[in-house]
Amino acid sequence: MAVELDKLQYNFSMSSQKKDKLWTMRHTAEHLLHQAVKELFPDVQLAMGPATGEGFYFDFDPDIKGKEVKITPEDFPKIEKRMKELKKLNLPVTREEVTVKKAREMFKGNPYKQEWIDEAEKRGDKVTIYWTGKDRDKNSMVDLCAGPHVTSTGEVGEFKLLSMAGAYWRGDENNKMLTRIYATAFFTKEELDKYLWQLEEAKKRDHRKIGREMELFTIREEVGPGLALWLPKGNIIREELEAWAKETEKKWGYKSVATPHITKANLYYTSGHLPYYKNDMFPPMVLPDEAKEEYYLKPMNCPHHHMIYSDRPKSYRDLPLRIAEFGYCYRYEASGELFGLMRVRGFEQNDAHIYCTREQAVEEFVDVMKLHEYYYKALGITDYYLELALRDPENKDKYHGNETMWKEAEELMRKAVSKVDIPMVEEEGSAAFYGPKIDFVVKSSIGREFATSTNQIDLFMGDRFKLKYTDDKGIEQTPVIIHRAPLGSHERFIGFLIEHFAGAFPVWLHPVQVIVIPISQKQQKYAQRIEKELIDLIPELRVELDSSDETLGNKIRKAQGQKVPYMLIVGDKEIKNESVSLRLREGKDGGVMNLVEFVRIIKNVIGKKELQLGF
Ligand code: ZN
Repeated sequence: MAVELDKLQYNFSMSSQKKDKLWTMRHTAEHLLHQAVKELFPDVQLAMGPATGEGFYFDFDPDIKGKEVKITPEDFPKIEKRMKELKKLNLPVTREEVTVKKAREMFKGNPYKQEWIDEAEKRGDKVTIYWTGKDRDKNSMVDLCAGPHVTSTGEVGEFKLLSMAGAYWRGDENNKMLTRIYATAFFTKEELDKYLWQLEEAKKRDHRKIGREMELFTIREEVGPGLALWLPKGNIIREELEAWAKETEKKWGYKSVATPHITKANLYYTSGHLPYYKNDMFPPMVLPDEAKEEYYLKPMNCPHHHMIYSDRPKSYRDLPLRIAEFGYCYRYEASGELFGLMRVRGFEQNDAHIYCTREQAVEEFVDVMKLHEYYYKALGITDYYLELALRDPENKDKYHGNETMWKEAEELMRKAVSKVDIPMVEEEGSAAFYGPKIDFVVKSSIGREFATSTNQIDLFMGDRFKLKYTDDKGIEQTPVIIHRAPLGSHERFIGFLIEHFAGAFPVWLHPVQVIVIPISQKQQKYAQRIEKELIDLIPELRVELDSSDETLGNKIRKAQGQKVPYMLIVGDKEIKNESVSLRLREGKDGGVMNLVEFVRIIKNVIGKKELQLGF
């Protein structure tokens, strides 16, 4: 359970500005945690503990010399109490540089700390320690730590211990299993309470739980971890989204293409995915004949689309060329990272590439952002921002391309962003290997953040693939490539939508739109007639009839559990009046009406993709 909680937390992210201050405070909160644990349970060995986007955690070894120290969540109040005391003492937190020799002595007998010291020595880094409280004072604690920290424990905000789980030392399953305590901290009680509420709400809205209850998808060990199977009801959502995207893209000037799932290794050497991205790709298939040619499952659709572009000579008149595909991709994510639909090894992406001139790039990119806004508005996603991912300035040789290209791509994207009204934060170090990128981060209806789509103005791949067009003076030029995927992948986006709507999808997306419920077997015939008439009036309507022997109460509860938007209840009274009694999924009574009236309203709700039920 604790591990699951961590995975739920995984989806949170936060803007960098807020992050630095908050992370520093959380790091100090973590020191209070390990100090309290060490004081209360002196026989545990401290390993390590960082701040994270959601809080902080602390790993310790409960079992030194074969004598296991039992710590359980029942001990949390005791630990929190001591942490609060330490906070109240407002102990100074001070940094000190020490020699490797001194550090070795100070942390003698702790193999985990010794390992850090060895590594710092190898890298030639300074060894720093942090004191909480004054040296040798009775409330003091010292730890090997790179910092930074707030200046005193009184600056630590409101914290809460959340859960425990096993965790391998440094995440390596060949290492010893340690015990981890997850916790969180915020500057204010309001923020902490909001987070705890979100966490509770997120558990109720967990896409794996709802996905199982509503029979949307399954992941079978026999097929493989991270490879989702869409059940009939989930596939309806998938197909509706896809049809919507295709129809919209057609209106926005895209052309649809289709490409295979596997391709020769060489294509990925051209793109630079090989060898750069190799660890994220499934291992190659080596063909027995054809000179032992290697084939890979595609980790992205871009190279295939570039091949489509270069299949015929292009002139400036062909640009901008926008080609789109719901393309299936495979990435070899670490098994420990897999999480329901949110982190998978196979996914179908709402992908497209726009090939254009440099002069067209900004306007095209603005349109891409507007397309996102169009989709988000339709889905009731009102809170989102952009995250501009730049190179790690300390580590520029990790990336392809030259300085001019990186600068220009960044400038073009900034220029485009200045033309729309969407806030943006910057994040150093998370660019793609071939250029800066902009992610859309959307908030679900409970305020949790998800990065759903990545966009890029790419000045690199055009050169790599020798893509050309002839300009109006007859000179060969390289097109700019824009990568975009507003609806992300079906897997991740539907995972997000499940949480966003808590399974109560808008009518146009919902797998079952109407359910006819006879009060008893007596009205079965009339109920069947209603079902048939509904389909006659709206042939594409997804309607079910509950002909089970259950009580009316149970039938209603079941339909509500499935979040079916409309329940049409029919009894003797309805038969007599040739009518239906409408009940809405949230429990509201929609009144008695004739079928034609009901159909008139829901036809409009479905056709306009409305978020409300219309009654
Ligand atoms: Zn791409």
